[in-house]
Amino acid sequence: MAIIIDGKAIAERLRNDLAKEVAELAQSNNIPGLAVILVGDDPASRSYVASKDRACQKVGIHSRQIHLPAATREDELLALIDELNRDSAIDGILVQLPLPKHIETAHIIEAIHPDKDVDGFHPYNLGRLASGAPCFQPCTPLGILRLLDETGIDLAGKNVTVVGRSNIVGKPVALMCLARHATVTICHSRTRDLAQQIGRADVVIAAVGRPQMLKGAWFKEGAVIIDVGINRVEGKLVGDVEFESAVQRASAITPVPGGVGPMTIAMLLANTVESRKRSIAARQ
Ligand code: NDP
Repeated sequence: MAIIIDGKAIAERLRNDLAKEVAELAQSNNIPGLAVILVGDDPASRSYVASKDRACQKVGIHSRQIHLPAATREDELLALIDELNRDSAIDGILVQLPLPKHIETAHIIEAIHPDKDVDGFHPYNLGRLASGAPCFQPCTPLGILRLLDETGIDLAGKNVTVVGRSNIVGKPVALMCLARHATVTICHSRTRDLAQQIGRADVVIAAVGRPQMLKGAWFKEGAVIIDVGINRVEGKLVGDVEFESAVQRASAITPVPGGVGPMTIAMLLANTVESRKRSIAARQ
């Protein structure tokens, strides 16, 4: 029987630990602060921003939500980021993506000070990740590694296949697995014979965004399967993996929902607390 990796329970444990840490920091007037900027009215983005706000409040992190109209100019957004970069009450700055088309996303991400880039998307942090230096690591990949750790899965020497090469999931998680001494294969839309690449993997990380694309029969017996995909099908959330058949072959598998999803926000909170601790250390 496969272990069903309970991301919801693991994330809750993490949040409880963070709440204790935040309470301790508060005693020295060091409440971590996260600023979340939303430009426009996209309903999905609105709901992500609201859940980040609720999560911050639950652990005692100071949350500043800034909603700007869709017509906000790039220079206005850059000025706001500049102000937040200099605000000592703010330890993390997150700009909810996607941004309206008239704003160049790269300009905005690059304007966030790398020390407050708790999403880990700044090229400085991604470059440090690639070179194996300490940095803020992107939240979803960090959450995936945490789930593997909590399940007692050691990546050293394992064949890991990552499906998807986005800058926010596929590429960084591949780098992080490499840093844990895995042999990593990255697949994407031009990969020939995806099933074969999946079949030789001890660990598969699926981050594609196509409902149930990875069929159960493709997986090696005993594989560990991490399903990052979030797809809405007939009002229900499903992953990128055909769960019902994959669970028969897996030694451990994440469900959707309740697997990777809850970990992403938990890691955002963890990075924000870490940012405050680093700025305290820098002052001493
Ligand atoms: P992107 O759309 O940015 O990237 C998708 C990747 O999948 C691309 O690299 C693409 O290849 C690859 N791909 C597309 N079709 C195929 C195919 N037929 N065979 C192999 N590879 C293919 O997505 P994200 O990385 O942002 O997100 C992936 C999924 O993870 C989505 O469902 C998203 O909702 C979910 N997600 C979940 C999070 C969570 O908290 N749980 C957080 C972030 C994302 P190519 O580069 O060649 O186009």
